[in-house]
Amino acid sequence: MKTKNFSKPFRVTDGKKFRLKDFDPRAAPGLSKEGAVEALKQGVARLSELQDKLFADNRWAVLLIFQAMDAAGKDSAIKHVMSGVNPQGCQVFSFKAPSAEELDHDFLWRTARCLPERGRIGIFNRSYYEEVLVVRVHPEFLAAQRLPDVPGDIWKMRFEDINAHERYLSRNGTVIRKFFLNVSRNEQKKRFLERLDRPEKNWKFSAGDVKERERWADYMSAYEDMIRNTATAEAPWYVVPADRKWFTRLVVAEAIIEALESLDLRYPAVDASKREELKKVRELLAGETAS
Ligand code: ATP
Ligand code: MG
Repeated sequence: MKTKNFSKPFRVTDGKKFRLKDFDPRAAPGLSKEGAVEALKQGVARLSELQDKLFADNRWAVLLIFQAMDAAGKDSAIKHVMSGVNPQGCQVFSFKAPSAEELDHDFLWRTARCLPERGRIGIFNRSYYEEVLVVRVHPEFLAAQRLPDVPGDIWKMRFEDINAHERYLSRNGTVIRKFFLNVSRNEQKKRFLERLDRPEKNWKFSAGDVKERERWADYMSAYEDMIRNTATAEAPWYVVPADRKWFTRLVVAEAIIEALESLDLRYPAVDASKREELKKVRELLAGETAS
């Protein structure tokens, strides 16, 4: 049964005309919560089948990048969407403020070490995109990187380097999909208050998050510029409505399913001599006397 794909309207493959204000964080077109929950259940089952094939096929790697403001639901989207996937075929890495060792290297170094192997799905919970987001909003983070003076616009150069990196990865068998969970400022406030009011959610709250919230407009213009400059056909951004978590998860799941379905995944073929070998083993096992 071919159902409607809910992820397509949120995919950006050419950033030139991208404007964040064209994307509504509350959008959930044509779907009730119950419908979305049911569709997600089916999506999770489909993902599990596709991931099994990806692993057996062992030619493609899949890199999923998640970026968002605090409390947009990155963690819970990852948890729900990947809930049916075999943990052996999946790796999640979270990137926080860089360590001294990381600051001693170029900006792609720490993530490059965590790229998924063939046959696997790698998830980046934040990524090198922080280098054109938090680092852009906070010039003191850029200063901490001790870069030599290079002529030119640092952000333009970073976009070029990121695009070149992603093109290189795509050409070498890594399929990249990027998700910006687009939460509204109002919804973030609601979720922060919930974190403060519910003891089991207190640990998720940090006072620094409110400081970043004060810079909302700067972050939004950094996000917009990032998508304008790094949305490409081989590594599209999905600007996922994030005010309703049940819709967010469905869009993410369907985008990953579509990416996997676009590959020519197949189980490795068994040739005649292997078939003969398997037949012999089968006869041997069947003829074994019980012990
Ligand atoms: P949650 O959303 O659950 O709060 P988190 O991903 O925000 O989880 P934190 O412990 O808050 O986790 O750490 C992430 C912080 O690290 C973010 O504020 C992010 O902007 C910052 N960070 C990530 N990469 C860099 C970087 N390259 N330079 C400076 N800060 C960075
Ligand atoms: Mg945080």
